[in-house]
Amino acid sequence: MENIGGKNVPVVIATRNAVEQSSDVVSTLPTPDYIYVNDALPAKLKDGQKYIIDYNAYIELAAKGELPSENVFPIFPTPAIPFIGIVKSKVKFLVLKYGTPSEEFLACLKYHPEVVVVCVSSHQNKLAEQRALVHQMMIAGVENPVVFAQMYRFSTDESNENANEPSTKEQFQLAAAADMGALMIDGLTDGLWLMNNGNISQDDVEQTAFSILQAGRLRMVKTEYISCPGCGRTLYDLRTTIARIKEATKGMTGLKIGIMGCIVNGPGEMADADYGYVGAGPKKVSLYRKKVCVEKNIPEEDAVEHLLALIKNDQK
Ligand code: SF4
Repeated sequence: MENIGGKNVPVVIATRNAVEQSSDVVSTLPTPDYIYVNDALPAKLKDGQKYIIDYNAYIELAAKGELPSENVFPIFPTPAIPFIGIVKSKVKFLVLKYGTPSEEFLACLKYHPEVVVVCVSSHQNKLAEQRALVHQMMIAGVENPVVFAQMYRFSTDESNENANEPSTKEQFQLAAAADMGALMIDGLTDGLWLMNNGNISQDDVEQTAFSILQAGRLRMVKTEYISCPGCGRTLYDLRTTIARIKEATKGMTGLKIGIMGCIVNGPGEMADADYGYVGAGPKKVSLYRKKVCVEKNIPEEDAVEHLLALIKNDQK
């Protein structure tokens, strides 16, 4: 449907409040494919941006002939299934939870391939419940796309007494990745919709959704870095170098760069990188293109520039 499901990369849906809708969320990543706006559209819609609005607000706008764009789509809660057939839209979203009587929604999905299921769960074992709903659909031969949605309650206000513990932002990222990762590996994910009702910034929530998809190799939206943690064998200043390389290459979407401390284990551990930056001796670095060493023993202070020149020469 539209750009969801089939061979499309998984979409990202985001809930933005009125302030976030009008002032762009600061992000180095793409804008979410769909923005959910509750029951009111922003005064000015962005060109090409797709919006999701509550079905009753959608019906009201459509009845008055005031739907401002064909990029506005309705979302229906489960009890509103009977209204799906009477609303005209090339894509419709339906919120579903495992446990809803299957006769209620399977017939609807069969007759309405334009419906995208938004699969939610409040169960302790969300993964199993969300998986079970998709299995119900598969057994019934229903092929509507499925977006997995999840609300989290992490907040950065909680005091973090132990600096070694993950921050609440990190806890949110870990929880979302753990919940969504298995569904992605199952091949069930046509989209992600992460929400947070704490005070984690909307930018962090959206970046997390894109990053989870990138980590699962389902959608590449930024440069990928593969790095070792460093150990006694590390022969140069690994942390500073990682920061310098990240800064210099952050716009190279989809490129994988390995940054490894030593030549003993580094080349093997970054085997799927496009380029590698590997410690070769005290303050000396070797550069790799894929698995092939192309420059040896460059002085550490010149090596980042050599890496950038290598990528540039390859017209990446
Ligand atoms: S790649 Fe080399 S430097 Fe990095 S952690 Fe492994 S052994 Fe240590």
